[in-house]
Amino acid sequence: MSLFPTNYQAILERIDSFDPIAYAKSRNYANGAVSRLSPYISRGVISTRVVYERLLSKGFKLYQMEKFVQELAWRDFWQKQWQYHGRAINQDLKHNQQNVNQHGLPRAIHEANTGIEAIDKAIKELYSTGYMHNHLRMYVASIACNVAQYHWQIPGKWMFAHLLDGDWASNALSWQWVAGTNSNKKYWANQDNINHFCHTDQWKTFLDFSYDDLPHQEVPRILTESVLEPTSKDQTNMAHLSPTGLPNWDVDYKAICLYTPYNLDPLWRNDLKAHRILLFDPEYFTQYPISNKVFKFIQDLAIENIPELQIFVGSFDALKKHFAHKEFYAKEHPALSYPVDVLDSRDWLSPDTPYKPSFFPYWKSCAKALKLELNTPKPH
Ligand SMILES: Cc1cc2nc3c(=O)[nH]c(=O)nc-3n(C[C@H](O)[C@H](O)[C@H](O)COP(=O)(O)OP(=O)(O)OC[C@H]3O[C@@H](n4cnc5c(N)ncnc54)[C@H](O)[C@@H]3O)c2cc1C
Repeated sequence: MSLFPTNYQAILERIDSFDPIAYAKSRNYANGAVSRLSPYISRGVISTRVVYERLLSKGFKLYQMEKFVQELAWRDFWQKQWQYHGRAINQDLKHNQQNVNQHGLPRAIHEANTGIEAIDKAIKELYSTGYMHNHLRMYVASIACNVAQYHWQIPGKWMFAHLLDGDWASNALSWQWVAGTNSNKKYWANQDNINHFCHTDQWKTFLDFSYDDLPHQEVPRILTESVLEPTSKDQTNMAHLSPTGLPNWDVDYKAICLYTPYNLDPLWRNDLKAHRILLFDPEYFTQYPISNKVFKFIQDLAIENIPELQIFVGSFDALKKHFAHKEFYAKEHPALSYPVDVLDSRDWLSPDTPYKPSFFPYWKSCAKALKLELNTPKPH
C-alpha cells in the first residue's frame, strides 16, 4: 500500500490505528511513532478537530494524548499567524536574517549529497514519498540557513514544493523560526544530535562541533555551490495547467461548492444540492510551485473522495463571470480566499481560542477550552 493512500476510509483508519502514547515517547526520533497525518490535515481532507474527536472516541484521555494534541495546536497556531500577518509571512517577519551570504539552495542539499548520511537519506525520501520527519526538516533548514548561510526563502519554497503536506504558514514560519527571523535565536543541530535522533554513527563531518564552536565555523565548501531555481526541474508544468473548458452538467443546481488544494473535505456541505468544482488557479501555482507528485496527490484526494467533482483550471473570476447567477460557497483558508457568497469557517481544534502572538499562550488557552469542554455535560 502507498505510504500516503488517498482513499477517505484509509485516512480514517490511519487515525484509528494511531497511538498517541507511543507518539509522546518517540516522536523526536527519525523512526518514531509519528502520525503522518499532515498531508490530509494540510489539504483540508480532515481537520485537527476531527483527529482530536476521533481519538477521544477511541477512549484516549486528553492527558494521555496531550503532547499530540499540542502538536495539532501548532497547525492551528501557524494558520492563525498567517491570517493575522497575511503576506508579511513571505518576508523576514520579526528580525532580518543575520549572516546571509547566499541566495538559492545549496546544490548539495538539492542533490541529497551533503555527506551527512541522515540528511541525504531524508532528502531522497522527500523526493520519493513527499514526506520528511519534523526533526529532519529542522536539520535541513539549519544546514541551509545557518551552517551554509543562505536566506531561508528559496530553500523554504523548494521544500514546500515537494511536501505532500505543503502548508505555506507551517513552512515559511518554521523556516523563519530556524533562521532566527521569527524567533530570537537561530536553531543549530550538530552531528551528535543528528546521530542520536537518527540512529547514525557518523563523526568528523562539518557538523561535528560543540554548540559553542559550530556557529563560528567557516561555511563548508560542499555547501557553497548554489542552485538558484531548485524547483524548476520537477515542478508541475504550467502547460498542464492551461485553462480547461468551463464545467457543465446535466442537472442545474443553484449552488456551487468551491474546493481548493486546501479544502478537499468530502463531508463539507454534503447535504447541499450543489455543483462541486475543484479550482486549480495557475496564478497561485506560479507563486508557490509544487512538484508533479504533490499535484497528483491533490487531484487523487479530490477525485477519489468528492462525488461528481469537476476540475476547473483557471481563475476564480472566469468561473464567477460564467456562473454569475449561481451562489458560491467556500471554506476559509488564507492561501486562497475568493469573494464568494457564503464563506464557511474551518473546523478549528478549539474554535473559541483567538489569535495569540506566541505559541504557549495560545496552547494554554486552547488546552483550557478543551478541558472545560470535556467537563461540561453534553445536552441530551
Ligand atoms: C522547516 C520546516 C518546514 C515545515 N513545513 C511544513 C509544511 O509545509 N506543512 C506542514 O504541514 N508542516 C510543516 N512543518 C511542520 C511539521 O514538520 C509537520 O507538520 C510534521 O512533520 C508532519 O508530520 P506528521 O503528520 O507525521 O506529524 P506529527 O508529529 O504526527 O504531528 C501531528 C500533527 O500535528 C501538526 N504538527 C506537528 N508538528 C507541527 C509543526 N511543527 N507545525 C505545524 N503543525 C505541526 C501536523 O498537522 C501533524 O500532522 C515544517 C516544519 C519545519 C521545521
